[in-house]
Amino acid sequence: MQQISIPARAKINLAIDVLDVRDDGYHEVAMVMQTIALSDRLQVSGQDELIIESNSKEIPLDESNLVYRAAKLLQKESGTKLGAYIFIEKNIPVAAGLAGGSTDAAAALIALNQIWQLHYPISYLAALGGKLGSDIPFCLVGGTCLAQGRGENITLLPPLPKLWLVLVNPGFAVPTVQVYKKFDTIEVTKRPNISKLLAAMGDNDVINMVENMVNVLEDSTVSMFPKVKQLEEELLGSGALKALMCGSGPTVLGIAKDKDHAMTIAARMEGRYPFITVTETI
Ligand code: ATP
Repeated sequence: MQQISIPARAKINLAIDVLDVRDDGYHEVAMVMQTIALSDRLQVSGQDELIIESNSKEIPLDESNLVYRAAKLLQKESGTKLGAYIFIEKNIPVAAGLAGGSTDAAAALIALNQIWQLHYPISYLAALGGKLGSDIPFCLVGGTCLAQGRGENITLLPPLPKLWLVLVNPGFAVPTVQVYKKFDTIEVTKRPNISKLLAAMGDNDVINMVENMVNVLEDSTVSMFPKVKQLEEELLGSGALKALMCGSGPTVLGIAKDKDHAMTIAARMEGRYPFITVTETI
């Protein structure tokens, strides 16, 4: 029986801009997405039933698990009668703005496509994944991308110069839907200039790149969870070149000069928050 062990990498956003609300109720977004080394791991093997297990007590293991939903959708689309045992080793904080659920779903689609010998191209899996969650197509492609539409329209960008990061999660969940609802009612103070960011990235100009990294959702999340602002200030106070909220929060990333600098920042933050890790862009 074939067994696959596959990493499911988290993402950060170098920029998020939210544009209009569309007729279907979704917000039109423009996001620069980046895969990072922090990852969950899926162990997948073929069997008759579909069974999901995990080392995490924080995620559902029933039909609401995104991995389960992805597997069911792939079964339905392909007509296969095969099942699978999937173990999710969870390392990415949950409901943290790091696309933990989406990346697990993307990894499951890749692994099951192989185990069930379906031979679908990534573009087809991405179209399927986009029905379950806007971040899933990006998680399937990975690297550095511009995401538009609901976030499901992906354009691959040239790889970035490596960035070393310190990720800090304050240990509470932030529901993405709530952040977007609040966003519609508040005045935004900071918007990214995505064209400038893309130009800096194209020039490998790290200074201008870092300067143009802006998350428009920050005002919304901070208005409901002021601790996120405090966390950003602490990261800057610990020496980070920049502090930026990931996705809809509450994880905050600090940018470091190099790996040693990242380790120093993490050591200074130690003991203050439940999740602090050093990671890098991929
Ligand atoms: P995004 O950045 O895409 O908005 P997130 O990182 O903020 O996502 P997730 O970790 O994906 O949030 O969790 C969002 C919700 O999805 C949680 O309420 C969680 O219970 C649920 N969920 C379902 N399946 C999974 C999974 N495999 N891993 C994590 N969360 C899952």
